[in-house]
Amino acid sequence: MAEHHESDAATVATAAAAHVVDPAAFLPFALPDIDEAEIEAVVACLRSGWVTTGPATRQFEQDFKAYLGGEVETISVNSATAGLHLALESLGIGPGDEVIVPTLTFTATAEVVRYLGAKPVFVDVEPEHMNLSIEAVEAAVTPRTRAVLPVHYAGLACDMDALLALARRRGLRVVEDAAHAFPTRYKGRLVGTLDSDITVFSFYANKTMTTGEGGMVVTRDAELARRIRLMRLHGISQDAFNRYVSRTPAWYYEVVAAGFKYNLTDIASSIGIQQLRKIDRFWQRREHLARRYHEALAGLPLQLPPLADTENGSTHAWHLYVVRMAPEAGMGRDELILKLSQRGIGTSVHFIPLHRQPVWRNSCELSASQFPVAEACYERILSLPLYTKMSDADQDRVIATLRELLA
Ligand SMILES: *Cc1c(COP(=O)(O)O)cnc(C)c1O
Repeated sequence: MAEHHESDAATVATAAAAHVVDPAAFLPFALPDIDEAEIEAVVACLRSGWVTTGPATRQFEQDFKAYLGGEVETISVNSATAGLHLALESLGIGPGDEVIVPTLTFTATAEVVRYLGAKPVFVDVEPEHMNLSIEAVEAAVTPRTRAVLPVHYAGLACDMDALLALARRRGLRVVEDAAHAFPTRYKGRLVGTLDSDITVFSFYANKTMTTGEGGMVVTRDAELARRIRLMRLHGISQDAFNRYVSRTPAWYYEVVAAGFKYNLTDIASSIGIQQLRKIDRFWQRREHLARRYHEALAGLPLQLPPLADTENGSTHAWHLYVVRMAPEAGMGRDELILKLSQRGIGTSVHFIPLHRQPVWRNSCELSASQFPVAEACYERILSLPLYTKMSDADQDRVIATLRELLA
């Protein structure tokens, strides 16, 4: 054991000597942007004595709704995963149903389908944006298909016009996994206000804004919103639950469905209110960093991520800046990740396609040959550091290191 530790220490010492990396200077791939405003808001919440769902959560939902233009209903939840589950539940998805999801996403997108006893049907992505392929969706539709769950990969919207047209033609519901897409515009309209049934945002720690853990479900449909609110908190009927307006005694409530425990706390919402106030500034910073990467990395053996079509009013949220290594890079993706890490730069891979994950590969009998585009992308993708707290100098270090390794 002692020997093992010593050799570990020796390895670290050698690596540090070779590259002169100060461990304190490690540049992570993502970091939340929290400052005194969030800290004071959380302290105020704690001092108020109301820490679970209450006035701050109501305020956060109203502020989010206002940001989206006020025409939608906003239902906060304790994660986007919970929100996706509630969204599909409200649409009546259940055993025997199929829901189409892209393979290049986080496992949450598929697991919520399984929560309801339905079957996730995985489809390939298209090579340019790595969003789900509309042709692949079309080919995957069966008489059992009830819904499609598109993911706006990295923060650039899917071809929603084509997807919604297909959904209308084939009688499918659409739930947008917008975990990467706040704020994203699609042809001038914010994701969350498009013509899908439901949109779900994530406030996980590395997303474009955070509440620690949290999410927001957005819909125009009042009936769906009512069901989602009900199931968010144990299936306790709202009328009885709302003690402020109810004429029944405060202890009385009715449970009308076997619901879930997916409510967002006021502690989290206090953070969310402050983050939302800064979201446009956050977005501008991300946009600035993405453009700098674009300029500085041109000419290296890297395929740079697609830009939004600003001509038609689309924008990119830049949750992720995903580059693809060109065949002439002289090293593989795994080697580049390792070398960047040895030089104190964190990166990540979004995503290991779900058809490669044991649970989905085995339960849905998937093979790599069914997903040639995602397979080809997966071999070559890596996500570079991109977050609002990253300085231009931090980014220059990433750029210089990439030049050193690849030029
Ligand atoms: C982060 C993420 C989720 C899950 O969000 P949580 O808020 O952590 O539940 C779902 N889908 C995608 C594509 C994500 O990146």
